[in-house]
Amino acid sequence: MSLCQKTAAELAALLSNRDVSAREIALACIARVEAVDARVGAFLGFDAADFLAQADASDARRSRGAALGVLDGVPVALKDNISAIGQPLTCASKILSGYVSPYDATVTRKLREAGAVVWGRLNMDEFAMGASTTNSAFHPTRNPWDTARSPGGSSGGSAAAVAASMTPLALGSDTGGSIRQPAAHCGVVGLKPTYGRVSRYGLAAFASSLDQIGPIANTVVDAALLLQVIAGGDPFDGTSLADAVPDYAAGMRAAHGPWKIGIPDEFFSDAPASARSAVEVAAAFFQGRGDTIIPVSLPRAKHAVAAYYIIATAEASSNLARYDGIRYGQRSTGATDATDIYALSRAEGFGDEVKRRIILGAYVLTSGYYEAYYLRAQKVRSLIRDDFARVFETVDFILAPVTPTPPPRIGDGIGLLEQYLGDIYTIPVNLAGLPAISVPCGEADKLPSGFQLIGKPLDECTLLAGAHAFEEAHDFAARRPTL
Ligand code: GLN
Repeated sequence: MSLCQKTAAELAALLSNRDVSAREIALACIARVEAVDARVGAFLGFDAADFLAQADASDARRSRGAALGVLDGVPVALKDNISAIGQPLTCASKILSGYVSPYDATVTRKLREAGAVVWGRLNMDEFAMGASTTNSAFHPTRNPWDTARSPGGSSGGSAAAVAASMTPLALGSDTGGSIRQPAAHCGVVGLKPTYGRVSRYGLAAFASSLDQIGPIANTVVDAALLLQVIAGGDPFDGTSLADAVPDYAAGMRAAHGPWKIGIPDEFFSDAPASARSAVEVAAAFFQGRGDTIIPVSLPRAKHAVAAYYIIATAEASSNLARYDGIRYGQRSTGATDATDIYALSRAEGFGDEVKRRIILGAYVLTSGYYEAYYLRAQKVRSLIRDDFARVFETVDFILAPVTPTPPPRIGDGIGLLEQYLGDIYTIPVNLAGLPAISVPCGEADKLPSGFQLIGKPLDECTLLAGAHAFEEAHDFAARRPTL
């Protein structure tokens, strides 16, 4: 087995025994990208010299007996909306072409402090708006299990790169499902932490009350190792939580249940067969272990997608105002005065979906409509949060589908509403700020599928434990696409 097919935990053990060097791992990742990424398109680019220099520095630390942590020498690739000093950051948008990050995101800094080797710019839907990674201004990413299909999105580059063994670990961001949904479509583990658990300093903001950074990995243990490094409060992100960070791997192993697991009727009865069957597979497993499945209700969750497309677009219209052709990236060459610079740079720099959302967001914030749309959406959001809080009075976590449908074929031109409704099971979780994990659970029509576990605020340990119990009893984590 090639080095890049190993899990992060296996690589960490090999490094710690001095059986391989960080340089060998980095070279294996580069070779793998060169061999398969022309067919997948997970990377927008990477800086090989920087990658190898970091790997060499890790090897030098280790030979001095000064390794910084478990992940010292293990590569972690970044979604292209997470800053790494000296590297480009485009959010897969033309408007940021030529922009180079002048600083590290907090997650990037924490990874470096743990010795991890931070590399790569992973493709995404432009500004993380989308669920297919076909909204990238540069090229679509393809699903490594079936390259005619999308890997999901918006962190499709991250999920595809991990699934295709180009990097053992990647970071994604999740505003309405963008870690969990591509993870499910690519057969890997994706964890959206509790809102505030991971600092967003240095993440290009999409919808600030929803955005979270989180791990994408081949196994639950690997996701726990990565979360361990990136979690924690940060003075540079006022929404980050100062609560102590538990030992996730230990917490995961210590939690055994038996658990009370809620299945929301609204996420199950009317769900398409493929979504229901992922939940049934998981429910049968947990029941077999002695856990109790409890039918629960989230009556207001049906309004989540509508509320999300008001709140997220409102926040995006404000966050994206900074891309004015003056401070960042691309400036229109046709402009003759200041107003023209803004208008033309934005008209030329943003893609259609981004423009649509800015216009929608500006509209719902307009005086006169603010109360009818934005304020009402915020009220709906509170009600959805209350629904979850009530359910968590009786259950330890919730079991739900991740996506209603398999990943679409690229070029099939799926309708906008259908795309937006694709996040029907993930968006309520962002609105409520809860942690959730997407766990691979088999294949349907040769494509992977996954289920979702949704937890109480800051209870990532129980989610990891539930996901790990399932993973240990199956061999899905070992399955890799043949490319
Ligand atoms: N698909 C959703 C959207 O288009 C969620 C995206 C995300 O989580 N970044 O907004």
